[in-house]
Amino acid sequence: MKLRIDGSLGHMDFSAAHFIPTIEKCAHLHGHNYHVNVEVEGDPVDGVLMDYGILKSIVRKSIEPLDHRILVPKHSRFSTCTIDGDVCLVTYGSKKFQFPLSDVHLIDVEMSSSELLSKSILEKTENEIFRTGNITKISICVYESPGQGACLEVSR
Ligand SMILES: [Zn+2]
Repeated sequence: MKLRIDGSLGHMDFSAAHFIPTIEKCAHLHGHNYHVNVEVEGDPVDGVLMDYGILKSIVRKSIEPLDHRILVPKHSRFSTCTIDGDVCLVTYGSKKFQFPLSDVHLIDVEMSSSELLSKSILEKTENEIFRTGNITKISICVYESPGQGACLEVSR
């Protein structure tokens, strides 16, 4: 049995600015209203696979720090991030940005593509989701706009 939540309807969403140094158009600083879809699979126990509210709260907890922030990779082959006091200096190609550190969320993947954001969110949520019930598979999809997103799944 599968249980699905559409993040655009279930309020699992965030707004953020980002850049993709390896794609010409996306190397310009720009933003998205992201939403995260989640699907879990397993055998229901007493007619229930998982409490929707618990699943939404786990996913929301993982994306809340990204909301209304500039997503900057902590370590990357494609950009550098230097923290100087309360300022974050970002460079890639010929570009140099200086952001207040309070406006930045440092991400643990080397690019804020929807592919790698789904990996990051899956890694942050999978242990807690697997612990809650009889779940054997989790899929996390990060949509950067309606109908356009990347999904990653893990099985145990
Ligand atoms: Zn983008």
